Amino acid sequence: MTLAIGVLALQGAFAEHIQLLRRAVAEASVSAPLQGSTAESIGFEFVEVRTPGELARCAALIIPGGESTSIALIAERTGLLEPLRDFVKVQRKPVWGTCAGLILLAESANKTKATGQDLIGGLDVRVHRNYFGRQVESFEADLDLPFLGEDAGTFHSVFIRAPVVEKVLSASLPVDHTEDMVTAPARKATAAPVEILARLPGRARALRDRSTTAEDLGEDGDIVAVRQGNVFGTAFHPELTDDARIHAWWLQQVVNSTVI
Ligand code: GLN
Repeated sequence: MTLAIGVLALQGAFAEHIQLLRRAVAEASVSAPLQGSTAESIGFEFVEVRTPGELARCAALIIPGGESTSIALIAERTGLLEPLRDFVKVQRKPVWGTCAGLILLAESANKTKATGQDLIGGLDVRVHRNYFGRQVESFEADLDLPFLGEDAGTFHSVFIRAPVVEKVLSASLPVDHTEDMVTAPARKATAAPVEILARLPGRARALRDRSTTAEDLGEDGDIVAVRQGNVFGTAFHPELTDDARIHAWWLQQVVNSTVI
């Protein structure tokens, strides 16, 4: 059986995602093969998505890092915005957004441009768009990602003008609104809770002093990975490293929810 996995290819780091997806499949087939319920081995086809027709062929989708306003604008102009909302929030196929992709998948975002921006939505969270500052304030950190397994070790993570999840929204409450905040239309409640999958501990101090943990600092740390049902988001860019573990993990989630 072959699953078509799309990567939204309007702008940003889509080629890098496809490269790591290929690597994930190659590496996984050596250690633990990606398998469906019948132990039938799964084949993958990776599709650069630029049109509604290409999106419709896909069983799952990655929205890459880049510039969320540009991606939203191009999606709007090419008639992809509504099909994307349908894919995420009506068909509820597996979707993963990295950085700009996470912003687009949030139901609410603040610190957006004065002209506003369209969101796809799907994650009941509010993101702060350029939380970690400007391009020059980009940084890298070794993160604990418990969802990769107890013994996984740290994951080298790249943060470039990265957003943060500043609030988990309650599905039953209306989204509060300030001037520089935008929200996605047609907010559809899902029964799935928002799970916090990773935090960046005490950023400033922990980065300077690698032996300092969030616990030492008496704080939980900033939320940098979340999942709600079919939607997964990371504030950082695994596609800009050569570590394919998150891609392998996500592909396995896709297989589990699609095949089993
Ligand atoms: N902050 C950027 C935005 O608003 C995202 C940056 C990134 O994807 N590296 O789109």
